[in-house]
Amino acid sequence: MHRFLLSGLLAAGLTVGGVAPVLADDEVVVYSSRQEHLIKPLFDRFTEQTGIRVRYVTDNAGPLMARLRSEGRNTPADVFMTVDAGNLWQAAEHNLLAELDSELLQDAIPAHLRDPDNRWFGLSVRARTVVYSPERVDADELPGSYEDLADERWHGRLCLRTSQSVYNQSLIATMIARNGADDTEETVRGWVSNLATQPFSNDTSAMEAVAAGQCDIALVNSYYFGRLLNQNPDVPLDIHWVGQDGDGVHVNISGAGITRHAKRPEAARQLLEWLAGEEAQSLFGALNMEYPAREDITPEERVASWGTFRADQTNLSEAGRLQTQAVMLMDRAGFR
Ligand code: FE
Repeated sequence: MHRFLLSGLLAAGLTVGGVAPVLADDEVVVYSSRQEHLIKPLFDRFTEQTGIRVRYVTDNAGPLMARLRSEGRNTPADVFMTVDAGNLWQAAEHNLLAELDSELLQDAIPAHLRDPDNRWFGLSVRARTVVYSPERVDADELPGSYEDLADERWHGRLCLRTSQSVYNQSLIATMIARNGADDTEETVRGWVSNLATQPFSNDTSAMEAVAAGQCDIALVNSYYFGRLLNQNPDVPLDIHWVGQDGDGVHVNISGAGITRHAKRPEAARQLLEWLAGEEAQSLFGALNMEYPAREDITPEERVASWGTFRADQTNLSEAGRLQTQAVMLMDRAGFR
């Protein structure tokens, strides 16, 4: 199939080469908030298989979106790639992304992991769940829901990342979508009163605090646990899927969309569709210990060893739509 694509492309090049537009579709430019080591192996394989070169710029999501806005029609970027649906939603809201009508992507990517208006698509999945000390947390007291972490039995035992993190903002936004603002605020107040210490600036520090005995349980993205295990397979921590008795565990994505002013929309479409293919989906997992967005692809071995979970099916556009409300709610609840 890949040979077919390649020869098709070559044939097209031969046919239209003489009257090609200024920017040929033999390359594609990506603005990515994903770090180089997580994307380059994928782009290299894509180039090998299609002949389309990938140029990319990496930075944080905020600066890349600001750049797309200020460049407007003159942007060289064809694809915007970032983590968290909250960020992708912002990009779409600021009219930075174009609709992409791709049957392939709609078939491959589950509906809750992509924009209902087809401006962005999830390509990998991470679950935001608890990592805990099996020495200090009994199996029968593990939280069945995010709300359970507000219970006073966790008093002085909980570690969290700050509310500045888009990961927490998206989690709270989807909780608002499911349970309403009042119940969610009560939950967050309970979390805050259970904190063992000030919120951390990143998920890894929160897990390290559990390992060090500063707290017993932390709320983190699954791949950070994988990275920690890769560094130290003996770390005295375990992972547990929250929400399995209720709405499912909160999942988020890394994903991408075609920019509003893409000069090579066809090459951009090919890249996005390739990233939803079997090989790329498997590679994603291996590179960052995440889950493939496609449900028919097996995760990396260590990730697979954590077992399967039921994911919350709330469409991730809610994470963007309710983001501002989530930020204000966390502020009211004293979550810093
Ligand atoms: Fe992260």
